[in-house]
Order: sequence, then structure tokens, then C-alpha cells
Amino acid sequence: MYDEHPADIGSEVFEREKDAGLLELYELELEKVRDALAREEQGKYGICELCGKEIEPARLQRLSNTTVCAGCAHRTQDRFVRPEEQEIISAGEMADEGEAFDISGHDFYDH
Ligand SMILES: [Zn+2]
Repeated sequence: MYDEHPADIGSEVFEREKDAGLLELYELELEKVRDALAREEQGKYGICELCGKEIEPARLQRLSNTTVCAGCAHRTQDRFVRPEEQEIISAGEMADEGEAFDISGHDFYDH
């Protein structure tokens, strides 16, 4: 691609990189939905895959494709490093204190 204004190319490159990052994020979300459907078929939907306990109903309502309970999400939270492209995506919804919340499709726990 050629343009007499180099800054225009920079904007295009930025937009394409943003699209690629968003596509990757959506593919990850789609994978989580498919996984949730598979768990439903196996009768495991709503059961925490880490501790085996029932996932809190309020949490499932908010994060319908989550596979872990709030406690396990909290315990594993520190191991998660956010990809850089998520910095440009909405900061998500904050829940009441002590409840799990969702930022860009990832589970967090506010204590
Ligand atoms: Zn758990």
C-alpha cells in the first residue's frame, strides 16, 4: 500500500493490528463458548473444573462460559498476564465488592 502521507499508513497499520488483536480475542471467546457447550453435553456445566464444586449461580449468570468458581478464579488470578492489545478494549464491568467480575472476557475476583 502506498500513500503520499506516511502518517495515514501508520493509522492503517494500527487499525489492522487492532483488528487482528480483536479477532484473536473473539476466537478465544468462541473457544470458551464451545467448551461450555461441550461441558453442558457431558453434564459438567456449572461445575468448577479445578475444585469440582458448584460454580456460584450469580457468577454463571454473568460469565456464562466460565469453568471455574470465584474462589478458584481468585487463586489462579495472579498467573494470568493480559495481552497488550487488551489495553485498548473496554475496562469491562465492575461488580459489587467481594464478587467476581469480568474484564475483557477474563475472570477476576474483587475482594
Ligand atoms: Zn473452584
